[in-house]
Amino acid sequence: MRPETMNIFDDLRGQNMVALENAKKNNKKVVGMYCGYCPQELVLAAGAIPVSLCGTRDEPIADAEKFLPRNLCPLIKSSYGFAITGKCPYFYFSDFVIAETTCDGKKKMFELLQQHKPMHIMHLPQGTDRPGALSWWKEELLLLKEQLEKHLGVDITEDNLRAAIKLANSEQQALKELHDLNKLDPAPLSGVDLLTAIFMKGFNVNKQEGIGLVRQLINEVKDIASKGLSPFRPGTPRVLLTGCPVGIGSEKVVRLLEECGGSVVCFESCSGYKTLDLSVDEDERRDPLDAIAERYLKIPCSCMSPNDGRFELLGRLIGEYRVDGVVDLTWQACHTYNVEAELIRRYVKDNFGIPYLHLETDYSNSDIQQLKTRVTAFIELLDKR
Ligand code: SF4
Ligand code: SF4
Repeated sequence: MRPETMNIFDDLRGQNMVALENAKKNNKKVVGMYCGYCPQELVLAAGAIPVSLCGTRDEPIADAEKFLPRNLCPLIKSSYGFAITGKCPYFYFSDFVIAETTCDGKKKMFELLQQHKPMHIMHLPQGTDRPGALSWWKEELLLLKEQLEKHLGVDITEDNLRAAIKLANSEQQALKELHDLNKLDPAPLSGVDLLTAIFMKGFNVNKQEGIGLVRQLINEVKDIASKGLSPFRPGTPRVLLTGCPVGIGSEKVVRLLEECGGSVVCFESCSGYKTLDLSVDEDERRDPLDAIAERYLKIPCSCMSPNDGRFELLGRLIGEYRVDGVVDLTWQACHTYNVEAELIRRYVKDNFGIPYLHLETDYSNSDIQQLKTRVTAFIELLDKR
């Protein structure tokens, strides 16, 4: 059974576009972001609308390949293609763009992209285990604050920052609560619907309304679950998806897993728990920038070396969501996630003894039959256990 509120989520992208256009007419500023490391609290505190620019569709990739190497991850090519062709209204409406030095492909693509929009590139430390990493990152936040103030013509006050922290925390809390409903067995929400609801976070023009809609979905899903209803039969194999970010447009593996008889109950990836699990400390005795710096540096991304946090999170989620198997998705040419996959495979095998499947693909449908064969065999393996 599909919650009726999902129909609203399905239409949200179009509605948000109209809302964004109206906001621009009313002189609201828009700031585009590409990555989980981008501190949206600073954007909110500047009175601007944060929007996600991360490319999740195949269509603009051919245009991007006129300028970028073909053997680059589809997420980078899609993001660049959307920007240079004017096909992404969110990029078009952005007054300012925030980028980060995460993986090599992305940070070099940003050097090209900054010829199209005013941009600030934050420099991330390479890892979190060195004594100076946090203070380095705090300096980067201060620099970003200055840049936002200069480009948007505003002052980011401490009060505004504290209010923005509360708002972002309440959004993240609502999304986490929604995600956690899938700890129920069978899961009350399909993986595709869960991803759809979480993904829309990046496009909400009015955050409070977005949070309200997530709360409405939570209530409806709880109601459905209380009646013992679910889109899945009891005993459906429960899958955790980890690896590169997925979004709507690049959800083909999520769809395949569910079409082949599985239930994607948990997203460890960037679209899911990797960022939903962390909130900014609201303690008023602390410098809010310290608290923001601390929260963002804890994101367990494969761009960090070492990336111990991913293993800790994965281990916890495998237990909490009682998953039967782990699927690790790597976008082609994503070296950091691709190399880390071997460590993840060993970790899952040695500590949990459950099946693990590594898939490497892109945004196109050219390999869908091969993927289907592998996914079907994997789900059958889980089903027999
Ligand atoms: S996976 Fe890492 S680099 Fe990619 S969006 Fe998430 S935090 Fe950023
Ligand atoms: S998926 Fe990998 S290669 Fe692509 S942008 Fe993210 S970290 Fe970089």
